[in-house]
Amino acid sequence: MTATQDWFAQAAALQADTRPLIGGTRVDLRSTETLARVSPADGRPLGALAIGSDADADAAVGAARAMFDSGVWSDMAPLFRKGLLMALADAIDRNRESLALWDSVEMGKPIGAALGDAFAAAHIFRFYAEFADKPLASAAPTAPSLIQYGRREPRGVVAAITPWNYPLPNAALKAAPAMAAGNCVVLKPSELSPSSALKLAELALEVGIPPGVLNVVPGLGRTVGAALAAHPGVDFVAFTGSTATGRELMRLVAGSGLKPLQLECGGKSANLVFPDIADLDAVARDAAHRIFDNGGQLCVAGTRLICHRSLKDELVERIVQHASSLKIGHPLDPETTYGPLASQARMQAVLDHCDAGRTEGATLRHGGERLLADSGGFYVAPTVFENAPAQGRLAQQDIFGPVLTVMAFDTDDEAVQLANDTPYGLSATVWTRDLSRAGAMAHRLKVGRATVLAAAPNSMAFAFPMAAEPYGQSGFGAEAGREGFEAYTRLKAVEMHL
Ligand code: ADP
Repeated sequence: MTATQDWFAQAAALQADTRPLIGGTRVDLRSTETLARVSPADGRPLGALAIGSDADADAAVGAARAMFDSGVWSDMAPLFRKGLLMALADAIDRNRESLALWDSVEMGKPIGAALGDAFAAAHIFRFYAEFADKPLASAAPTAPSLIQYGRREPRGVVAAITPWNYPLPNAALKAAPAMAAGNCVVLKPSELSPSSALKLAELALEVGIPPGVLNVVPGLGRTVGAALAAHPGVDFVAFTGSTATGRELMRLVAGSGLKPLQLECGGKSANLVFPDIADLDAVARDAAHRIFDNGGQLCVAGTRLICHRSLKDELVERIVQHASSLKIGHPLDPETTYGPLASQARMQAVLDHCDAGRTEGATLRHGGERLLADSGGFYVAPTVFENAPAQGRLAQQDIFGPVLTVMAFDTDDEAVQLANDTPYGLSATVWTRDLSRAGAMAHRLKVGRATVLAAAPNSMAFAFPMAAEPYGQSGFGAEAGREGFEAYTRLKAVEMHL
């Protein structure tokens, strides 16, 4: 890996260009308004973000529509579309350092993790490129004079609105299946971290993907994002972000004609630990990863540890040890495993949750405070609370930060009841070696993704996630896997009498 000094030198030389990329060219924004941005690592200015407007969103939708209607992309032989997306995946690999650097600088992700994100993004493009030319249609058994078959067609213009926590993988997870299916995309990355998405769109052009297939318009949610959602020229809206914004998008979409929406929103994922586990330290290590990786800023973060009472004290002790051993520091230092939170607002929100936890009587076992304040960065200590009231803020709300709430149970029914007792339903983890219990838990938990751990996950047992749909306030619509590709297609039934 590049040495620390090199990352700092490269970061110092970065020149942000956050103008939108529309129809294959960088265009000047129609508005002169800007958003001041600061580095999460040290609070220093990062360069202003030009704020787009309805007119910029409209121009991007126009470019995507023109390319889609031309048929150059949507009617291209799928084999060639696949080839271009594979070439884009290779280009992501070749540029992984610069892509990772942008995400690390803009949202404070440790550089090692950001390099992993770039690897993941290339993998996502390869996975979906393969779908471009695979037969997914169905045909009915019919009399000889009749042919009936189902055909999957692209939806048209897709608006993808993405958050800052995994800037590049989130962009890929929407753009890759959408493009593979033959759609043209307008991507609105988060205002905190637009540069890797812009770079991705530049790479798409470099490898020969036609201009207008992938357009990127940075800007605020309430301006560019809202304009895209409400735009009558958009055929599908794919969103990852907070539940509040998801709700707002449903309103905007409802007011602008009928178009489908896919929402992946907040979560409050439970991590259930049963007494038949073999290796408590493996559980502790995994639980610490699930809540402290990326500073807990992920929708599937394992925020609630729901642990059998007989193990709880020992497990908490070990999780606290893991929290203490994290290497907290500047995200551009390759040794860092735990960086700052992405913004001052995020840091303040997480600290407010910690205060609320203390006020509602929870026991603080670790953290709960700002760290490295002298650096000017937005660091919050990895935090562990116990004895939080089940209906209180800590146990119920999506904190989107490194705060673990530990709860104890005595019976399996109680564990399920606790796990299902939030408005969210994105994912859950179950530690058990008992096959019957594993099956029962996987089916009874009201979540889109249920992971059973009979042993610590093997890092070499790496597979692309299957499609899943969340429960409750975590959203709806399939993401990932095959169905996550099909979501970007429209099913047409063709009937031919011969
Ligand atoms: P987070 O709190 O994780 O940033 P948000 O839901 O605020 O989650 O943001 C996720 C994405 O949604 C970002 O790209 C943001 O700009 C966008 N967004 C925020 N508000 C709106 C809105 N009213 N309409 C459309 N997009 C929005």
